[in-house]
Amino acid sequence: MNTTEIQKALANVKLLFNEPLSHFTYTKTGGPADVLAFPKSNDEVKKIIQYCNQQKINWLCLGNASNLIVRDGGIEGFVIMLEKMDTVTFNGSHLTAGAGAKLIDVTKLALKKELSGLEFACGIPGSIGGAAYMNAGAYGGELVDAFESCDVILEDGSFKTLVKEEMDFRYRHSILQEIKAIVLSVTFKLEKGNYDEMKAKMDELTDLREAKQPLEYPSCGSVFKRPIGYFTGKLIQDAKLQGLKWGGAQISEKHAGFIVNIDQATATDYIELIAHIQQVILKQFDVTLETEVRIIGREK
Ligand code: FAD
Repeated sequence: MNTTEIQKALANVKLLFNEPLSHFTYTKTGGPADVLAFPKSNDEVKKIIQYCNQQKINWLCLGNASNLIVRDGGIEGFVIMLEKMDTVTFNGSHLTAGAGAKLIDVTKLALKKELSGLEFACGIPGSIGGAAYMNAGAYGGELVDAFESCDVILEDGSFKTLVKEEMDFRYRHSILQEIKAIVLSVTFKLEKGNYDEMKAKMDELTDLREAKQPLEYPSCGSVFKRPIGYFTGKLIQDAKLQGLKWGGAQISEKHAGFIVNIDQATATDYIELIAHIQQVILKQFDVTLETEVRIIGREK
């Protein structure tokens, strides 16, 4: 990969080469991205995609890296991060947020405007784009509830607006998991709320989260999707796996659905521990645990 040529072709875009993604992931693990790009506008995103397509270079978009395990070999090609595209605007009861905006910040801005509908998300550490991709949810709410539409750029570099009906939102699923596209912004339709009631709800959910989740350690949140008819944490506890250490990773003592990085874990520690949990739970209870966390990148 010719870094000088890339810099010349994408002169206005901030680029980092061979940058460890452990600096960005919530687990603090993962190898380097060949190129990490921080576009500031839709047009810069388009320029990157067109350049990659012309040069036959792989590309993918990451959000806040809170639901990801990047393998220790890192990611080939371009990793596009939209953290500079975080503008939030209001139009009546509609809120439009750049895909790089942090969901937590957006819920605070909605609270300030007394626009209700996103309170459930006040502790989810993802970006707006990642939350749409995952249909993030908590405490009875899901992104789909407030979602109206999103602007995306498709694999061929064309822009498109997708409305809710086109998104195939399901439990931790959206159409974005099946097409190659980058979410650029999301528009939510919110309702007039009451500041004190909204704030009380958000405080209550924050307290619940702090009481139940090991937020003092790096992690990727719930590792597994909830299997129908079971609770993942309970299965892991019943299998006497809670607390198990694997290299620097550990099944959290506080919440068995989380794997925490307690001592310089590698992505390999995480991936092996996940596989071990899946094997034990399948053998003991005949239940298949599917990962909620996305595992991406190349082997070391
Ligand atoms: P990333 O982890 O960066 O990426 C996830 C996937 O989305 C990747 O495949 C990536 O390619 C894709 N993606 C990201 N941005 C874009 C974009 N702009 N366009 C296209 N694709 C994109 N999740 C919940 O649902 N509920 C919770 O209560 C919750 N609690 C958590 C608590 C903790 C402590 C942690 C660490 C995580 C938690 N999560 C929770 C997981 C995570 O925060 C969510 O899944 C979040 O929506 C992921 O967003 P992200 O920006 O971090 O995405």
